[in-house]
Amino acid sequence: MKQIITVFNQKGGVGKTTTVINLSAALALKGKKVLVVDIDPQANTTSGLGLDKDVAKSVYPLLRGEGPWTDYVRKTKIENLDLLGSHGDVAGLEMDLALAGDWQFRLKEALAPVEDYDFIFIDSPPSLGILSLMGLIASNEILLPIQCEYYALEGVAHLFETIQLVRETYNQDLNLNGVVMTMYDGRTNLSTQVVENVKDYFNTLVYKTTIPRNIKLAEAPSYGQDIFSYAPKSAGAKAYESLAEEILKGVDQS
Ligand code: ATP
Ligand code: MG
Repeated sequence: MKQIITVFNQKGGVGKTTTVINLSAALALKGKKVLVVDIDPQANTTSGLGLDKDVAKSVYPLLRGEGPWTDYVRKTKIENLDLLGSHGDVAGLEMDLALAGDWQFRLKEALAPVEDYDFIFIDSPPSLGILSLMGLIASNEILLPIQCEYYALEGVAHLFETIQLVRETYNQDLNLNGVVMTMYDGRTNLSTQVVENVKDYFNTLVYKTTIPRNIKLAEAPSYGQDIFSYAPKSAGAKAYESLAEEILKGVDQS
């Protein structure tokens, strides 16, 4: 089955976009064909991959039902990594779609003919609105980034309810396949404590790889670069490479 993975957490600033960009890049560098779909109006994934926010080449017309995905897909600087980008106007689209009422399957249907990729990653906005739900309905997996901070598990119960509702109503194929701990700071007891709490809660769903807090990961997007071109020897690059390996191992076993 085609792997369509939504990187999702309704909490803001937990590392969704950083994970989409660098995990996709890691897999593409390992020779996998990856499509990134940015449905967040902030369009940080689009700019972080070094592309301009071009509404005519974005998910905006795609989600309005104007033509096939091939009209909007763009190549990135990284071989094997393509993008369906976002744009600020996508926020307005969310309103239009809410009023039109028939939004649920638009992304799923738009991605149905996409065949040539090993992985499709969807970057969602920090909300439980129509855009995020469209992403969950279109996906078969959720990758949940959790930031190593005091309120890490806040909102997780609500997240589970949403996943359950989406499964029952629209998409029984949806599974939470992994939790990745982000912005880990080994110097603080807090980070260690949070990782333990999250492991108690999610057990084996937590990836062994933990993403450290690493300044290079924060700097790279302002140069429109992934971590492997910006700072290939950094701790951030090593961590995302290791996460990619874990994910590939999981795919081989299933
Ligand atoms: P939003 O909910 O707004 O879409 P997000 O969940 O996509 O946010 P990011 O944009 O990836 O989160 O990260 C939030 C901020 O933290 C960014 O400035 C990013 O550069 C920084 N950041 C993310 N991961 C790391 C890390 N491992 N080390 C240091 N900084 C990080
Ligand atoms: Mg983001």
